[in-house]
Amino acid sequence: MKKTIRDFDLEDKKVLIRVDFNVPIKDGVITDDNRIRESLKTINYAIDNGAKVILLSHLGRVKTEEDKLKNTLRPVANRLSELLGKEVKFIPETRGTELEEAVNNLQKGDVLLMENTRFEDLDGKKESGNVEELGAYWASLGDIYINDAFGTAHRAHASNVGIASHLPNGIGFLIEKELDNLDKAVNNPERPFTVVLGGAKVSDKIGVIKNLVNRADHILIGGGMMFTFLKAKGYEIGTSLLDEESIDFCKEMLANYTDKLVLPVDVLCALEMSEEASVRHTDVASINPDEMGLDIGEETVALFTKYLNESKTIVWNGPVGAFEYANFASGTKALCDALAGLDATVIVGGGDSASATIKFGYKDKYTHISTGGGASLELLEGKELPGIAIIEEM
Ligand code: ADP
Ligand code: MG
Repeated sequence: MKKTIRDFDLEDKKVLIRVDFNVPIKDGVITDDNRIRESLKTINYAIDNGAKVILLSHLGRVKTEEDKLKNTLRPVANRLSELLGKEVKFIPETRGTELEEAVNNLQKGDVLLMENTRFEDLDGKKESGNVEELGAYWASLGDIYINDAFGTAHRAHASNVGIASHLPNGIGFLIEKELDNLDKAVNNPERPFTVVLGGAKVSDKIGVIKNLVNRADHILIGGGMMFTFLKAKGYEIGTSLLDEESIDFCKEMLANYTDKLVLPVDVLCALEMSEEASVRHTDVASINPDEMGLDIGEETVALFTKYLNESKTIVWNGPVGAFEYANFASGTKALCDALAGLDATVIVGGGDSASATIKFGYKDKYTHISTGGGASLELLEGKELPGIAIIEEM
């Protein structure tokens, strides 16, 4: 068990909290503030317990001076202030006297946000390269470090691993929630445990398949990756997405886990991936050479639903079709719907899968929708995330 923010006396302490404010911003306007909202519980807890709160976050990538203009956290400070209902002091730098003085002037319950941590990447990748001096400097500003940025926990950066190695530390409520849900589902699932895998390429998901194939009772395969499996079985897949170099892996999986892996029986095909393309429904054995498969068909939905209805734990990663196009969204929508009606623990991991649930109106219908794309994928692969590994055990 990791130490959490609850394990510290925060009264009058300078508490550095690494949050994930990496929100989409267009022309200075935040188009989705979900990540800011997800951090409120930890920030409010720190305020309520008398901390002097110092927030750090990255925003996008910073490679040039121009990137600084569009990746400033200033709009985030304004939005956060609205959401908290109190002043958030924004410091437009990541080090220096203005920052240090502002930190020293903080009163109990005050909140300060410093500029985008990745501004430090311009001169020698100090943040992303976890340069020792930077982590030590940021740590010198505070008394306690809390990591609550799940979205970057799979990276060892100065603002997580760097600071944590110099201060007493713990995780915040968001990371705690992510770990409770994803960890438990993968390592201690109530059975039957079914995994639904989709997305684009098999090669992106080999680690997940390897880690989960022995833990899960069933793995249902959809999305672009199903075609490499079908090819491995000897089917004609036309111009569907094919991961040449993963064919042998698929053959091996199919040979060793015949009963566990469930492949689609029908698909929606088209001559091209576009909104205008006309759709042909066919069984998987009859894809024409000039066609590509872009979604699962209704018999597959029924087949998958049968497995889902019998399951007690489900982890879903990867849309089962090219859901961004209305004509290839029906499979993913039907999956969202089937999952919403279950009396089971349902965990959604993966950036695009999470977007799909939100797009189709299923945001509040599951046990947990992970906020971290890459981080949740690495947890599903059974990897230890550096930003969490560095945190002290109880
Ligand atoms: P996640 O972010 O949830 O882990 P991925 O990034 O692995 O998911 O995959 C998402 C992408 O997979 C989507 O952009 C979707 O259009 C694509 N996809 C799903 N099915 C197909 C398909 N049959 N052919 C091509 N692309 C597909
Ligand atoms: Mg993705």
